[in-house]
Amino acid sequence: MAAVNPWESLISTSSASYRELDLRTEIHDILYGDKSRGIYPHGRWLVVRHYRKDSSGKKVPCNCRSEVWGSANKSTQHKCSYCGGHGFIFDDSFAIGYIQWEYPVSTMEKEEAFGSIELVAPAVYFEYNVVISDEDFIIIPVTSDDGELPSGVVQIEKKLKVNVVNKMRSDFGRIEYLRCRVSEEHK
Ligand SMILES: [Zn+2]
Repeated sequence: MAAVNPWESLISTSSASYRELDLRTEIHDILYGDKSRGIYPHGRWLVVRHYRKDSSGKKVPCNCRSEVWGSANKSTQHKCSYCGGHGFIFDDSFAIGYIQWEYPVSTMEKEEAFGSIELVAPAVYFEYNVVISDEDFIIIPVTSDDGELPSGVVQIEKKLKVNVVNKMRSDFGRIEYLRCRVSEEHK
C-alpha cells in the first residue's frame, strides 16, 4: 500500500515532487501572505546589495579603488558616490525577506566564567530565486509605520553584512529557500 502524503493537496509547484512538503510555496505564503486564505504576510522590504562580477566571477573594482586603497585616507574612499566606500561596483535590488533577529548559532557555544552562553546572530530568509552571495549586503530601508516604502530616495535604517548564504534544499535536492547568516554593519 502506498504511503499517504497529507500535504498532497497543498502542493502547487509543478516541479515539486510529491514526496514532501513544497517549501517554496510555504515560504512564499509566509513572506507575501494570501488574503483569500487568511494568511498574513510576514515579509518586509529589503534591499539586496549584490557585488557585480566579471566574466571570471571576480568582483568589479570601482575607479576609486586604485587611487584610494592602500593610502591612509579612508575618508576619501567613504565619500565615493559610485561605490559608497565599498571599493567595488554593486547593484541594488528590492526583495521581500524575513529577518529572524536572534537565530541561535547552535554549533557555537562560548564558555564564560559564569557558564556557557549560546551565541545568536540574525538570519534573513528569501525565496529561492533571489540573487545574493557571501560578502553581499542586505539593507533595511526606512519604511512607513505600515511597512511601506516611501517614494523617493531610500533611507538606510540598518545595514547587514552577509557572511554565509545557505541554499536550503529539499530531500531530493531542489533549492527551497535561502537563509543568509548576517552580522550588523556600521552604515
Ligand atoms: Zn568607489
